[in-house]
Order: sequence, then structure tokens, then C-alpha cells
Amino acid sequence: MLLSDAEAYLQRTTERYPLSLRITAEGCVLVPSQSGVLGAFGALFAAAGDLASRGIWSRMKMCKNTSCHAGFFDKTRNSSGLYCSPACSSQAAQRAYRSRLKSEKIA
Ligand SMILES: [Zn+2]
Repeated sequence: MLLSDAEAYLQRTTERYPLSLRITAEGCVLVPSQSGVLGAFGALFAAAGDLASRGIWSRMKMCKNTSCHAGFFDKTRNSSGLYCSPACSSQAAQRAYRSRLKSEKIA
């Protein structure tokens, strides 16, 4: 899937989960306009909007472990995180090690 296709898909999806602006003396936040499961999806999109407005959207990543691909928030200092957990990092390192061993045996 191309990035533009993914963006178009997300745009169509977010239109199904409308948000409302809740204004208080402390500030304003986006909240789901629906309740239940639909509201839960809306809350996810509201959280995404909050991250984007705070300039930390780029820290939302997908785990590079081929058997995981979970979404995670990169808490590393320099925003260089690739894996959702140390377990996924270890699995990927083991996979790379075995791959190097295999290629050395073939050569
Ligand atoms: Zn992972």
C-alpha cells in the first residue's frame, strides 16, 4: 500500500468517528461524539490529533520486528526506537544473527 493510499484510507475511516471540541476554563480537547465501540475508535483518533498538535506524532511508530508490527510510542531520547519492546529487539537481533550464519555457511 502506498503512503497516499494509506492516508486516503485513514481519512475515510476518521470520517466515520466524528469528534467534538470540549471547551473548559483549562483549555479545549477533542472528544468522541459517539459512545461505545465507535467512541473508543474516536478516542484513538482524538489521541492521534493530540499527539500531532504537540509535535510528537513522529514518535508513533510501527515495530520493525516482522512477527510483531505493533504500534508503539517511541520513548527513546533521540527518537531512534525501532522495536516496541526489548523482546522484539532481541527476536530481530537473533533473526539477523541466524541469517548471517546461514549466509556464511552458504558462501
Ligand atoms: Zn514488537
